Amino acid sequence: MVLNLKDVFLNDGAKVNAEFQVELKPITLDGIYPFDSDAEVRAEAKNKLGFVSLVLDVSFVYCRPCDRCFKELRRELEFSFEHRLVAGLSDSEDDDYIEVPDFELELDDLVVSDILLDLPGKYLCSEDCKGLCPHCGCNLNDAECDCRKGNIDPRLEILKQLID
Ligand SMILES: [Zn+2]
Ligand SMILES: [Zn+2]
Repeated sequence: MVLNLKDVFLNDGAKVNAEFQVELKPITLDGIYPFDSDAEVRAEAKNKLGFVSLVLDVSFVYCRPCDRCFKELRRELEFSFEHRLVAGLSDSEDDDYIEVPDFELELDDLVVSDILLDLPGKYLCSEDCKGLCPHCGCNLNDAECDCRKGNIDPRLEILKQLID
């Protein structure tokens, strides 16, 4: 999606809206395809007192295993991103600004990079997920195994005998 921003840049109070989709499904992260849908995007660029801003409201379905218990978690995620836009080339090294030299802004790559930067670093089924038993591999959220009681470290076993 290319947004033409000439009208917005030249007129205080002007705005332009767009709704479109951005392809996410083919993207791989850590060897899996975590995007179960493409992104639905609503974009609005507006000029307020000469300052042009862009807001991107993005939603998509994200599916990845829990980092601890590996249960597959499918969630609808929603993000909102805001950028300041400047026409022409500016001397500023400030990365917060996006330059739009010819009044045309390509949004697809911007949406994808915004999403990738904002994905949750830690992905858990719940904050207190107990994970998997390191001995038998059972999911400790669903079941309690006997490994912890039965598998005492042999060195500790000797100590225990000495104490007894
Ligand atoms: Zn979990
Ligand atoms: Zn176990």
